[in-house]
Amino acid sequence: MDDLIGIAAVLTARFCPLRLYLDRQEEYEEPPYYAVCKQVSYHLGTPFEAEAVWDEVCTILPYAGEDERALFDQCVARCQGKEWPLFSDFDVPVTSARHGIRGTVDKVDPARPAFVLTRANEAPQAGVWGADRIRIACYIACVAESLGLEVDGGWVEYVPSGVLRYCVPGPRDRRIMLRAIAAAKKVEEGEVPKKPLNPPCVRCPHQERCGPGPRRLSDLL
Ligand code: SF4
Repeated sequence: MDDLIGIAAVLTARFCPLRLYLDRQEEYEEPPYYAVCKQVSYHLGTPFEAEAVWDEVCTILPYAGEDERALFDQCVARCQGKEWPLFSDFDVPVTSARHGIRGTVDKVDPARPAFVLTRANEAPQAGVWGADRIRIACYIACVAESLGLEVDGGWVEYVPSGVLRYCVPGPRDRRIMLRAIAAAKKVEEGEVPKKPLNPPCVRCPHQERCGPGPRRLSDLL
């Protein structure tokens, strides 16, 4: 179990293995916006009192301030009053020994059968983000092996947009998944990755360390 790679790490390696390597040098802290969206998500599908949910958010994030409240209000405004399917189980750990990956599926219902991934970002104009297609491909493999669920796709819940979309990954997504798992495995085994060509540095927290320029980590440190 310990040598299984987290699906979040697979997704990081898909875009930049060097980012995964540098992330591993730092403590991980769950971003507050994720905690806000996750808490709203637990209540979708049943009527809820916004202030009671906000109270839960403040228990989880005692330092929650104006930014968290603004995001919470947006999530509630866009999610309340819509039809949301109910799922039987939450935060279920799943693994795929075949692919060497593990994760926690946000919502699952074996009776449907179906699963949902909760996202704390806004939805694209149509469909789901490319990274979420790869996430879904990873989780399809995991729920099949761990829970015996045969599904061709999964739901993605974009809480800040109040949107739920179904995604069926294709061969290209599974190809990307396999390459990303291989890249993540190399990092976990201690290999120091090169800076990739044309990496997505714009939103990366390591930009100051390795913005445009040298491609070898030894050049960056
Ligand atoms: S700044 Fe760019 S190259 Fe460096 S880790 Fe981040 S994404 Fe990768």
